Amino acid sequence: MKKLIEKGYCTGCGVCISESFSKKMKMSPNKYGFLTPINIEEIDNKPCLKVCPFNPHPDDFVKDEDALSMLFLNDASQKDVRIGAFENTYIGYSSKYRKTSSSGGIATYIFQQLLEKNIVDRLYIVKEYNGKYKYQFFNNKDEITQISETKYYPVTMEDLFLEIDKIDGKVAISGVGCFIKAIRLKQAYYPKYREKIPFLVGIICGGLKSSFFSDFLAASSGAEGEYDTPKFRIKDLNSNALDYSFGCNEKSNNRYHEMKMRKVGDMWGTGYFKANACDFCTDVTTELADISLGDAWLDEYIHDGAGTSVIITRSKLADKLIRDGISNKQLNVVSKPKNKIIQSQSSSFFHRQDAIKFRSCIFFMSRKNIPYFRKRFKILISPTAMLVQICRRITRKKSLSLWHKLRNIVKFNHKMKKYILLLKIMTKSEHLFRKIKRKLLSQ
Ligand SMILES: Cc1cc2nc3c(=O)[nH]c(=O)nc-3n(C[C@H](O)[C@H](O)[C@H](O)COP(=O)(O)OP(=O)(O)OC[C@H]3O[C@@H](n4cnc5c(N)ncnc54)[C@H](O)[C@@H]3O)c2cc1C
Repeated sequence: MKKLIEKGYCTGCGVCISESFSKKMKMSPNKYGFLTPINIEEIDNKPCLKVCPFNPHPDDFVKDEDALSMLFLNDASQKDVRIGAFENTYIGYSSKYRKTSSSGGIATYIFQQLLEKNIVDRLYIVKEYNGKYKYQFFNNKDEITQISETKYYPVTMEDLFLEIDKIDGKVAISGVGCFIKAIRLKQAYYPKYREKIPFLVGIICGGLKSSFFSDFLAASSGAEGEYDTPKFRIKDLNSNALDYSFGCNEKSNNRYHEMKMRKVGDMWGTGYFKANACDFCTDVTTELADISLGDAWLDEYIHDGAGTSVIITRSKLADKLIRDGISNKQLNVVSKPKNKIIQSQSSSFFHRQDAIKFRSCIFFMSRKNIPYFRKRFKILISPTAMLVQICRRITRKKSLSLWHKLRNIVKFNHKMKKYILLLKIMTKSEHLFRKIKRKLLSQ
């Protein structure tokens, strides 16, 4: 457990805290701005690892997302190797919540319905807390937009299984893939939580960021020193969906700073400030949730700055909520083939599923007493794509170590320049390679 954490194979879900035998463990920010467990005693090792989404020795019946989906989503009518078990796939938005949400407002709509229809009594979601963000219990359906918007900020569910037994009624939870997997692991070992947590809203995730990401954006936007209420996805209704802004409040003078994200360049393809563990996760679409939600990064939707959601329903209940919303006109959503959803996350599928074998091989060569992770995908990528992977791993690592050392935006950008340049050159070569390959294959 300690070794996994030291080597960065923890995304901070915090479910292990409820399994701590010594009761001494808690989550705490590490030097790179990620939340990780501390005070781990030898006796905590086995129980904690069993609910860890990155456990290298899982029991066979919960060995990966496929095994877990057999336990929880066995009656889903369709299955796909890339997106997992599902009922249907859709694209669209909620007319009421789109404006105040990050994509199409479907997450807020679903949570409002779950409370309204008394399917659950409470939500456990990410919400503002003292100027930053935290998982909290919430049940105010009249103020539901308080829970909206994507927060690219480290959060943890450390208190979920410490508190949930004290709470009357049922709870619905939102989470990214590894967080949802940790909840499913807990439910697999403690079946009472299957009834207590009857619905999981999956947030499609391209990688979890450290708090350095937020600090870097605040500094890039002109905020000096401390800041609060960072907003990561401010929409521009006069532009396209990718053209969103970051905003925050400088604490010392209460000045608001806002900046278009395009000013800082690509923050996802570079792996900037991303958790190491995310490079060893193959779950692109949060395969174990009742419903999975992401952005419709497709040419036909990107032009609309108001934002559009891709939706994968995996349970019958989730599918009914979407279908009811369509028929009572609360949702402007249409059914779309699964390939459209896959296309909307194509870079993430390539990185997470196609390139995992190569990354695992590099990991295998450099491993230090950490067992090899079992992986579901064994695809061979091109030599240029391998070079992109190596450069991306370096850029990710350097972004964290340099920000930790410098905490100065000018010096940081200067030092990162050469790594970004190398990554750009490799990415261009990979694109060229793909183009030539396509041409040769079409002849
Ligand atoms: C770290 C991260 C990475 C993401 N990467 C991608 C990606 O690569 N591709 C893609 O298509 N979509 C990605 N998303 C999802 C996307 O940004 C939207 O959150 C999603 O489309 C839902 O939009 P919505 O308008 O329906 O949600 P809204 O109606 O705005 O509601 C937002 C919901 O997300 C929950 N939430 C916000 N932040 C977090 C968090 N950190 N952890 C858990 N729950 C949270 C809130 O509790 C709320 O329920 C990512 C989200 C996060 C948090």
